[in-house]
Amino acid sequence: MRNDILKRCRICFSKNLNAYLDLGKQPFSNSFLNHSDIKKEKKFPLKIVVCKKCGLSQLSIVPNTKFIFSKYDYLSSSSKALSNHYNKLVRKLVKNYNVLPKDTVLDIGCNDGILLNHYPKNFNKVIGVEPSDASKHITQKRIKLINNFFNYKTSKNYLKKYSKPKIITITNVLAQIDNLNEFAKGLSNIIDKKSLIVIEFPYLLDMINKGLFDLIYHEHLSYFALTPLEYLFKKFDIKIVNFEKLNLGASGPAIRLFLSKNISTYRVSNKITKQIKYEKAWGIKKIYKYNFFEKKTQDKIKKIKKIIYTKYDSGFKIGCFTASSKGNTLLNCLNLNKKIIQFASENNTKKIGKYTPGTHIKIISDKNFLKKEIDFSILLSWNYKKFFLSKSQYIKNGGKFIIPLPEPHIK
Ligand SMILES: [Zn+2]
Repeated sequence: MRNDILKRCRICFSKNLNAYLDLGKQPFSNSFLNHSDIKKEKKFPLKIVVCKKCGLSQLSIVPNTKFIFSKYDYLSSSSKALSNHYNKLVRKLVKNYNVLPKDTVLDIGCNDGILLNHYPKNFNKVIGVEPSDASKHITQKRIKLINNFFNYKTSKNYLKKYSKPKIITITNVLAQIDNLNEFAKGLSNIIDKKSLIVIEFPYLLDMINKGLFDLIYHEHLSYFALTPLEYLFKKFDIKIVNFEKLNLGASGPAIRLFLSKNISTYRVSNKITKQIKYEKAWGIKKIYKYNFFEKKTQDKIKKIKKIIYTKYDSGFKIGCFTASSKGNTLLNCLNLNKKIIQFASENNTKKIGKYTPGTHIKIISDKNFLKKEIDFSILLSWNYKKFFLSKSQYIKNGGKFIIPLPEPHIK
């Protein structure tokens, strides 16, 4: 298996790529290991570059995505907080955009059906695109699966079987697409003037401003703002019509974009023009804007380490709460002494019994974790901290969280 070096921007094909953050060599963060695989583990550069022409931040290599997806252990529905989040989104879309049971709805990167499950029961033109094994966990019979990556070719096959969708949701997926141009071309092919595309992803400006370096991992090939996406979609006759900021998303604070065909029933909100101007003033294409991110990252790592070592040195037992992919970048950057973190707690059965990539912490069930009497746990899915603080038995039993980001603290 090999990973290619990124030579040209995946949106505008410019060669003017400037590196701004290097997190060293790391394993693929979603490749949880069996004990026998630990010795064979491979690591790859985790480095970010920004394109000076369109402003897209992206990995310096193109990891072999087939390899990533063949070992994909991420089941969305194992996150109750995320399922609630999508439930709210679906209800809002159905209500605000008058989506009817006769309409076709499509979710690209539908995973185990976590979003599609929430459409009202009388909707039966419900379609999901999902290339990974997670699709085997789709339970609702009404969900028609396209078991493939979405691109122009897939869009042509889609049109042979299904009608143009009223709603297309693409949540926490765009970052994983290598050929964004083929993806956008495919989208353009299946929409009409009534179609509304909804995309959710972590917002680049939040990542940089708040120092959220744990968003960076090999499965995330790109890091988006509105400016590069506007450039991309314009090429394929798609416009961004509106956006909203969200406190929660699959990887942290997210942004939700609404897009449509250039000539459509949807009007472009003033908010879009303002935000694009704001991004320009912020310095989306200016390398100096990104340079302080590396220092900010190192400062955060130091702070988190200090909290952990202080508790460990005082004789407390330390663990990890949730074995999320994003947590692995953080754990690998912390580079802690092997014996410090005893266990990671997780409710995704595909991960239980395995070891975290790079750091090799044993993953056990939430139930077993409670028996280990861990005093402090690093909450890797800190983006769901409200949920875990109010709902988790671990907290009810007197455990404490080390919240690593945005500001490291104990709760
Ligand atoms: Zn570019």
